[in-house]
Amino acid sequence: MKIRKNIIIKGIVQGVGFRPFIHKLVQNYNLSGWVLNSNQGVEIEVEGKTEEIDSFVSNIKKKLPPLARIEKIEVNQLPLIGYKEFSIKKSIVKEENSFVLVSPDISICEDCLQELFDPHNRRFRYPFINCTNCGPRFSIIKDIPYDRKKTTMNNFKMCSLCQGEYENIENRRYHAQPNACADCGPQVSLYQNKIKLEGIDPIEKAVKLLKEGKIGAIKGLGGFHLACDATNNKAVARLRRLKNREAKPFAIMSFNLEKIMQYCKLGEKEKEWLVNRARPIVLLQKKVDSLISPLAAPRNNYLGVMLPYTPLHYLLLKDNFTALIMTSGNITDQPIIGDNLEALEKLDGIVDFFLSYNRDIFNRCDDSVIKIINDNKVFFRRSRGFVPHPIILDFKLKEVLALGGELKNTISFSKENYIFLSQYLGDLKSVETLEFFKESIKSFKKMFRANPEIIACDLHPDYLSTQYAEEIKVKEGLKVVKVQHHHAHIVSCMAENNVKEKVIGVAYDGTGYGDDGNIWGGEFLLCDLKKYSRVGHLKYFPLPGGDKAIVEPWRMAYSYLYSIYGGGPKAKTLDIDFNRRMDYDKLSIIEKMIDKNINSPLTSSCGRLFDAASSLIGIRDEISYEGQAAMELESFCAPGITERYKFSIYKEEEKFIINPQEIFIDIIKDLKEGIDKKVMAAKFHNTVAEFTVDLCGKIRKDTGINEIALSGGVFQNKYLTEKVVFLLEDKGFKVYIQRKVPPNDGGISLGQAVVAGS
Ligand SMILES: [Zn+2]
Ligand SMILES: [Zn+2]
Repeated sequence: MKIRKNIIIKGIVQGVGFRPFIHKLVQNYNLSGWVLNSNQGVEIEVEGKTEEIDSFVSNIKKKLPPLARIEKIEVNQLPLIGYKEFSIKKSIVKEENSFVLVSPDISICEDCLQELFDPHNRRFRYPFINCTNCGPRFSIIKDIPYDRKKTTMNNFKMCSLCQGEYENIENRRYHAQPNACADCGPQVSLYQNKIKLEGIDPIEKAVKLLKEGKIGAIKGLGGFHLACDATNNKAVARLRRLKNREAKPFAIMSFNLEKIMQYCKLGEKEKEWLVNRARPIVLLQKKVDSLISPLAAPRNNYLGVMLPYTPLHYLLLKDNFTALIMTSGNITDQPIIGDNLEALEKLDGIVDFFLSYNRDIFNRCDDSVIKIINDNKVFFRRSRGFVPHPIILDFKLKEVLALGGELKNTISFSKENYIFLSQYLGDLKSVETLEFFKESIKSFKKMFRANPEIIACDLHPDYLSTQYAEEIKVKEGLKVVKVQHHHAHIVSCMAENNVKEKVIGVAYDGTGYGDDGNIWGGEFLLCDLKKYSRVGHLKYFPLPGGDKAIVEPWRMAYSYLYSIYGGGPKAKTLDIDFNRRMDYDKLSIIEKMIDKNINSPLTSSCGRLFDAASSLIGIRDEISYEGQAAMELESFCAPGITERYKFSIYKEEEKFIINPQEIFIDIIKDLKEGIDKKVMAAKFHNTVAEFTVDLCGKIRKDTGINEIALSGGVFQNKYLTEKVVFLLEDKGFKVYIQRKVPPNDGGISLGQAVVAGS
């Protein structure tokens, strides 16, 4: 007896060759019906015998195409219709509210790469070759369902050959929406002095210019890169000068792993992530004496390296260059540029040429950045290749739009048990980033049919994201939930690990607004998904100059010294290099600021503790990019050091307070004895690890809670994180860290969404 079944498949099932896969699979059975893309996912109807249908459904799950991901299959039995054959039907849009998952951009696949360099292939050296298994997705999608006319490929009409491939179910390019060839698809052009050069091979010309030491703006998948030869010191120096970027590391790109091994150390995990289809930038340990310009990442042990991910990158790098600098094409502190005209306008003073093309980028997206810590990938930036994959919870939330923090901003929408985190947006204090933020809210809202009833934001009254929440609250009458910064950090970690029970949260970062109005950042919270209580923190010290002290770590170093040794000549005449570098009068001003409480807010920030140590040890007194002092301090750590400095923990009004003053007394002893900076850096890290674990033990004793969630930007520090996790696990704690979203402020919109929506 025949039956009819309707099957709805949700997950990443569009733009990944799912319908041809179904069509092929169905040939093995005696089934009739149809398959189509809807805004719910893929919908199938089949008529046939029960056993055949059951086997068909189980094989869907078993034999998935490489990029597909199934989240859910719903099967319903319906009355027979009497289908004669099996067909692929046109996409339909059903309920307004239903949504589908959208695939991130994916690097060129092996098959396409082979064709790209095959002189007999009709797409030989065509820079936009792609297929169902690879190519642009998120960056070109304007709306769902994923169809060519809803992407920025809508301007290109397929030629008859491409159309033939597109319609042929046996073909790798069957329904590959960005399918194109040199006759019908996007074209590359090279511009110099805003003029398009004619009669040249733009890619060969770009290679020639780069080899001459020129700087180019090269259009990638999610935006422009600024590129130059990474082994050419003069070119890299010039790029730093023109981009007005003193020291912040530049990412680089090499043709293959062999090239990378010439200048970086590669572990198995590092290799695995370099070749991953998402093609993130992986932070790798530098080899000494490499060909790469030291200016690529000055005073840093690590280099951010990626493999090519577009055919255009492969054409540029094949047989050329050890590595190219490929840094985001933007004006400092502004978002990555995706628009051709905007690039020509804004980057003209920085570059010697533009290598661009005429397919538009709809969703701009920076490269993702990861580092392997404890054998896991830890995101520094989650963007291209990963966005818009959702974070999947095992519980449902109310619909929330979470607006994130201020620096490294991302936004999140929650929908059922999914949370869609946006790409990295940046620092909202720039007007352009604020625009990008609003644009992304609109784009995500549309793409995922989001209809939030709650707006979540930070507690900080001055954050532009908080102010934006107030603005739309009035305009759209939505409820606003303000979430404390470090609570959001910890819940972000809990959510991605699907932890719902109370944990001890350790949140170490630079700055977050506390519920007592002070600047928090070295926090021990007992929390669940809704509430938290602060059970411990680093002792408060004044931050002389507020934001100024963040870019001038010596101020915080002196704040500690002053608190220990007192004013007048006492602290200022200690016989240490720090005092020899500092201006006596300037230090006196700091004392006055602290005494009279002039712009000297109290802080418990762990980031500032690292800053102070970095300055006092003599590594960095002033910074030119966020986190620089701490990063360089980490870079200095000598391996194999087990000693540490002293600290104390005491209880005050039911809270544990970690007093780090003794650390500085010990550092001064070491300075006087002329101990190696590298040893001091390691001893400092060991101490932070030790007091963290010590306090976790005390809290466990009081509460019986054995689960620890670690979050906050400080946990991007590999030395510290590995040490803390090792020591905690050694003491029998269950430790959760962040692997799906960044532990830095790029992850807090996730935490906000969960706090507000659960
Ligand atoms: Zn392909
Ligand atoms: Zn064509």
